[in-house]
Amino acid sequence: MTAKCKHCGQAITDGEHPVHTAGDYRGKNRCCPGDSGLPYGYEAAPEGAECSYPCLGASPTEPNNH
Ligand SMILES: [Zn+2]
Ligand SMILES: [Zn+2]
Repeated sequence: MTAKCKHCGQAITDGEHPVHTAGDYRGKNRCCPGDSGLPYGYEAAPEGAECSYPCLGASPTEPNNH
């Protein structure tokens, strides 16, 4: 089964600490800014999952709409 990162749309592994399996940042948990269109600092997370620290999306100052 393949999960998809909610930030950048690349394939990621399942599990507690997913890593990307495609794109320039495959093997890393950080999202590639070129794929996500987001600043560096977002981390792989499946769609529907909460962001977890230290993903920038987990920041309480960040609107939780992505
Ligand atoms: Zn990603
Ligand atoms: Zn996140």
